[in-house]
Amino acid sequence: MSTETFEFQVEARQLLQLMIHSVYSNKDVFLRELVSNASDALDKLRLEKLWDDSLDADVSDLHIEIDVDKDARTLTVRDNGIGMSYDEVGRLIGTIANSGTAKFLQELKEAKDAAGEEGLIGQFGVGFYSGFMVADEVTLLTRRAGESRGTRWTSRGEGTYTLETVDDAPQGTSVTLHLKPADPENQLHDYTSPWKIKEIIKRYSDFITWPVRMMPEATPVAAADESSEDGEGGKAPEPETLNSMKALWARSRDEVSDDEYHELYKHIAHDWRDPLETIRLQAEGTFEYQALLFLPAHAPHDLFTRDFQRGVQLYVKRVFIMDDCEALLPPYLRFVKGVVDAADLSLNVSREILQQDRHIELMRRRLTKKVLSTVKEMKTKDQERYDTFWREFGTVLKEGLVTDPENRDAVLAVASFASTHHDTEPTTLKQYVERMKDGQEDIYYLTGESRQSIENSPHMEAFRDRGIEVLLLTDAVDEVWADAVGEYEGKKLRSVAKGRIDLGAEDEDTPDADREKRTEEYAGLLGWMKEQLDGDVKDVRLSSRLTVSPACVVSDAHDLTPALENMYRAMGQ
Ligand code: ADP
Ligand code: MG
Repeated sequence: MSTETFEFQVEARQLLQLMIHSVYSNKDVFLRELVSNASDALDKLRLEKLWDDSLDADVSDLHIEIDVDKDARTLTVRDNGIGMSYDEVGRLIGTIANSGTAKFLQELKEAKDAAGEEGLIGQFGVGFYSGFMVADEVTLLTRRAGESRGTRWTSRGEGTYTLETVDDAPQGTSVTLHLKPADPENQLHDYTSPWKIKEIIKRYSDFITWPVRMMPEATPVAAADESSEDGEGGKAPEPETLNSMKALWARSRDEVSDDEYHELYKHIAHDWRDPLETIRLQAEGTFEYQALLFLPAHAPHDLFTRDFQRGVQLYVKRVFIMDDCEALLPPYLRFVKGVVDAADLSLNVSREILQQDRHIELMRRRLTKKVLSTVKEMKTKDQERYDTFWREFGTVLKEGLVTDPENRDAVLAVASFASTHHDTEPTTLKQYVERMKDGQEDIYYLTGESRQSIENSPHMEAFRDRGIEVLLLTDAVDEVWADAVGEYEGKKLRSVAKGRIDLGAEDEDTPDADREKRTEEYAGLLGWMKEQLDGDVKDVRLSSRLTVSPACVVSDAHDLTPALENMYRAMGQ
């Protein structure tokens, strides 16, 4: 068979360099990544076979196997799952599809020092490539279920990899790491030690729903030990299953440690960081389900792109059914990760059916409320954690103010906004209202590109002079929700850039008669200006809202701003 050599895509090469020279101290996680991939591959095969019974694949004993060879210093993770075709290997392993990677690499360049680098690597899932943290060569042998020939991929991580067609590969994938030379200083990181492997699997992959098996050590001494313990001398050693395979969501809360929950999160979210919050829900009755949801600590880079994979995993009685099940949560909670296990759904349930199912609808409403109440609780009990949450996901959550009237109040209750009241600390609407001056009727806000550009707006002058607080809103969605919500606790939400603004009693004393008189006086000028600006503005008026700037543009209270128009278009309306 001919062997072809290929170059890694640029980003892939950069990531590999990073892995090879990694300063990341927790190298154990490479095994978690490989087992996680193997588990995904088994899930995929089981599903594919379910949909297409004619698929020529063996699904009788789906499992993951780990082999260590002390003498050769190799470690192999093998699965008999879906496998990859020749093209898929090149596409999936030779490139990095994740759009956030470029940004990550940029941040990494800027981090410069080792501590910063370690922090960043720790925050970023590098999946398959993490094997290069501990290996100087990686070989992957794979055959896609249903296909007759396999593919061997080999690389030393240094810019190129080779691909080769193989006639006799078993179904599924095996990844063999040629481990770097042993470090005599650091026996703790001996990945040829079965004890070490067991410990890592237990710690990171215990909940994996497929058996992770390992043969007892193949050395004669070990084999003898094993059989004499059993008292069945001479028999071939049996593989040992290293994980309990227990679904965490089916176990009671006090049986599961936070660490275990966090590892499950990392597996399903493909994130390397701990989640910010774990949410459990058990629903009993006619439609039984268990949910284990997570609020991530960081927004993914592609949260606002069209192809963001939203939704949680759906299981039916512990059997994985689908990833990204978008029917279970509304779009504005698309960052929530986790598992929902429903007892009474068909294993063949499709996305279309889910969209129309009444029980699913009820489930979505319940899960939505649960997520929002969790955020609220976080806000009352742990301000710092809430601040992180809001910084990362506030923009998305605010979409709910527009799209989910049922939960509008719950979203408003956890929403906070930048305001002229404080340079850095955001305020809630409740706090704003408590600070409102006597005679102030409305809640004022102004939208714009950035806090600074808003503060420099001529519209702000009168408010600044009178010491009236203004919310400074910089997200595109802000235009939309403020209009949609309209008021809070009976106070109207009003843009200081729209329509006539009446700044309370003081101004009313200098009566309109005065302005009328002046309007007459300036009628010529105003008329001329309106003529000159014909088509660009609707009217030209004298104003008391400015103290320094000579003029400003004001929209009608109901005009669409450009950002608003874009937003509606994006929402398909
Ligand atoms: P991720 O798991 O986050 O997608 P990885 O770098 O871990 O990223 O893996 C990249 C891709 O390679 C996977 O999405 C999958 O398509 C493929 N892959 C990796 N390992 C396996 C495996 N054991 N069996 C089948 N496909 C695999
Ligand atoms: Mg992976």
